[in-house]
Amino acid sequence: MVAAPSCPPALRQEVNLSAFTTWKVGGPAEWFAEPGDQAELIALAAWAHSQGLALRCIGAGSNLLIADAGVPGLTLCNRRLQGSRLEAHTGLVEAEAGEPLPTLARKAARLGLSGLEWAVGIPGTVGGAVVMNAGAQGGCTADWLVSVRVLDPAKPEAPFDLQGHELDFAYRHSRLQAESWIVLSATFRLDAGHDPASVTALTSANLHSRTSTQPYQQPSCGSVFRNPEPQKAGQLIESLGLKGLQIGEAQVSPIHANFIVNTGAARAADIAALIQDVQGRVMASHGIALQPEVKRLGFEPGR
Ligand code: FAD
Repeated sequence: MVAAPSCPPALRQEVNLSAFTTWKVGGPAEWFAEPGDQAELIALAAWAHSQGLALRCIGAGSNLLIADAGVPGLTLCNRRLQGSRLEAHTGLVEAEAGEPLPTLARKAARLGLSGLEWAVGIPGTVGGAVVMNAGAQGGCTADWLVSVRVLDPAKPEAPFDLQGHELDFAYRHSRLQAESWIVLSATFRLDAGHDPASVTALTSANLHSRTSTQPYQQPSCGSVFRNPEPQKAGQLIESLGLKGLQIGEAQVSPIHANFIVNTGAARAADIAALIQDVQGRVMASHGIALQPEVKRLGFEPGR
């Protein structure tokens, strides 16, 4: 009989998750850890499995609405799993799941690797970007991803690779959103041989165009709703005069109507109510069911 792994030292109990999301809302994780490397993450996943605990992984928490009541089971935050290896000649880039996307975009630009210029304004991790197929300004993760290394929490001792074409990528969608697998690292192939100054200039210009049109200084999760193509969610919301609409301290941003900002001490319940209110108004006026892009944790029993 195999002994159950003992409780790893990195584990903490009842850790408030609001500090781990860009919205700055959310209740406590029953169990919480920030693994410092893949071996520690694997040990933590094995422990959760041995205890029969639900396990979920978060990155920078920049696309997450976490319930005020918190989240049962073990929540792993990957933001310490940083690091990347970039080859200037081949364009091959391997990045740990917790590597910040803007950091990777800047590193690539400095080596004259083109492809991630759009990623500099997205405050997520590589793991979160793969799960969400994050994208902006005409580019997205799926365009450059070769493969990911993932962990099945039910078999933590045997991580495996998936190729990009196995991930069912679509607009802000990947197969990983329906799986319980944890992304450990990702490999990209970028376009090598560009002038580093030009790639860096385009990267900086992309960041500037976003920070000048979006409420970057306030806690938010970026765009709340998926664009119901060919329509833009922000335009639909703005057309109804909903900029500035507020529930508690959650507000439809006066700067960009597809952003909901936390003006101070918003609760997750305020944000969830505002999302529902906006959805109802857009449905009533335009007959369009806006779908949230943001992922929820702790809103369903056991999840
Ligand atoms: P999280 O928010 O932590 O998690 C998102 C989902 O991925 C969750 O379901 C989580 O469980 C899962 N997950 C995260 N890491 C892992 C992992 N290692 N293994 C398994 N599952 C994991 N998004 C865009 O696409 N385009 C934009 O232009 C954009 N602009 C933004 C601007 C602002 C100011 C903000 C705050 C957000 C913006 N976003 C944008 C949203 C967000 O940054 C992206 O969705 C990002 O990819 C989320 O990464 P994350 O690490 O924060 O993931």
